[in-house]
Amino acid sequence: MRWLVLSDIHGNWEALEAILEHAAGRYDQILNCGDLVGYGPDPNAVTEWCRNNTPLVVRGNHDKACVGLLDLEWFNKVARASAEWTMAALTEENRAYLYALPQGPREVEGFQILHGSPEDEDEYIVNLDDAERIESQLDHALSFFGHTHLQGGFWIRRNGVRRISTPAVNIEETAFYLINPGSVGQPRDGNPNAAYAIYLPEERHVEYHRVAYDVPRVQQKIVNAGLPEILAYRLMIGS
Ligand code: ZN
Repeated sequence: MRWLVLSDIHGNWEALEAILEHAAGRYDQILNCGDLVGYGPDPNAVTEWCRNNTPLVVRGNHDKACVGLLDLEWFNKVARASAEWTMAALTEENRAYLYALPQGPREVEGFQILHGSPEDEDEYIVNLDDAERIESQLDHALSFFGHTHLQGGFWIRRNGVRRISTPAVNIEETAFYLINPGSVGQPRDGNPNAAYAIYLPEERHVEYHRVAYDVPRVQQKIVNAGLPEILAYRLMIGS
């Protein structure tokens, strides 16, 4: 069973489409670490696609915010404006689906998926200290997560925590792994290309990938929708 690993699609249909084309034929199933919506101009198209294609999914903080499950006071001005726009744009069916999304961590055969940290989908695992701090909360040696929009992740051994260097990592039996596929729809690691990973359990191997997509088209949609223009700008610089 080969897995396509997605996270933080954020209503970016063009980025998702580019990834599906790029990864075609190289996976059997899809897992989704949350934040289907928020920021991007196509929350309905993305949610509908996820409803039909990613039964293995956990909710993200933006999914909560866009259906009223999170107080928008926690969000900055731009995130709040986009959550309010998304809330108004969602169809009733898609809203109900997002509302009912399961909270992570969610167990699968041999690994788990989550959005932020095992205890809080809004907690960021950004640096080595963060990874070390949450180690005791990990129920599995292999976890897929998102939220930071930074491709890579961490591996943890008795003698310390290291960053995983992309574009690939072999999963050793003696270590814990936190794998972040990066963000499909709003990368923040300085590379504007859409991010995803492929997990090959039999080979105990994870590959990281980046794909160029039609950023100007998404930027135009963001502007036309009346979403904050900074959301269009940041797609170009991957920040
Ligand atoms: Zn996100």
